[in-house]
Amino acid sequence: MRTPVPDYLQEVLGGCTADGGAVADDVPELAAADPDRLAVALTTLDGVTYSAGDDDVLFTVQSISKPFAYALALQDRGLAAVLEVVGTEPSGDAFNEISLEPGTGRPRNPMINIGAITTHSLVGEPGLAGAARSERLRRGLSAFAGRELVVDEAVLESEMGTAHRNLALAHMVRSRGTVTEDPTVLVREYTRQCALLVDVRDLAVMAATLAHHGVNPVTGERVVGARVARQVLSVMATCGMYDAAGDWLSVVGIPAKSGVAGGILGALPGEVGIGTFSPRLDRFGNSTRGVRVCERLSEDMGLHLMGMA
Ligand code: GLN
Repeated sequence: MRTPVPDYLQEVLGGCTADGGAVADDVPELAAADPDRLAVALTTLDGVTYSAGDDDVLFTVQSISKPFAYALALQDRGLAAVLEVVGTEPSGDAFNEISLEPGTGRPRNPMINIGAITTHSLVGEPGLAGAARSERLRRGLSAFAGRELVVDEAVLESEMGTAHRNLALAHMVRSRGTVTEDPTVLVREYTRQCALLVDVRDLAVMAATLAHHGVNPVTGERVVGARVARQVLSVMATCGMYDAAGDWLSVVGIPAKSGVAGGILGALPGEVGIGTFSPRLDRFGNSTRGVRVCERLSEDMGLHLMGMA
């Protein structure tokens, strides 16, 4: 593996002029993001983080919170209980599709919104709900990041103003009895989970914690068990990049998750954690330049899960 020194990362960013795509415009606070921001960070499993570009700019974690909420639900409730409620199959649909498995009626996976809203309800011991459960989530994601994360209240309120689709998804799972709580409260707390603020360095450490089998390589804390980390990475590999997941896995070859604010998190088991940030998104909802940066890192450093070619 080539040494990921900042000069090299700077060069990677400089080479990523290929743009296109558009900043998410359905949430006013997200639409206001500077589209030209670009940043990358890598965290090694001995706990060293290298970064370049706009590496101190905070943005909301959005859907990148989903694998971590899934990890906490698995940790708190166990694999079997979570699998009963949320599946592990790629949906082939957009992230906000109503996508339920024929037969079981489960949301297909925890990475699309309907599965993530359901997964949010599974965090903590049974009965934990509302603000207390959100605090469990905030603390859990903070343990993955190795620092205290906070919610961007302006993004939360802005997103709640246009959350009709997520409310529809929550009503759907409520009507089927998959969740038993008030859909409006559930969507608000799920949206709060998405509104946690991170920078690319946080993403890289969070990714490295998954890649390090559940132990944060910076703080040394075991955040989740190795079996949980493996489950999360598996679902990220097949479903993390939505309906671009197949293309992503064959080209980049790293379990990953994208978010609508422009973040991408990639975790290569036993090797490294990666974070990228650039707000313009492609038609799948993945950061255009973030995808380019990850393609380049994978190629240069031989990070593809299936080996060198
Ligand atoms: N909060 C966003 C939503 O639920 C997250 C979507 C995303 O990042 N792709 O719609």
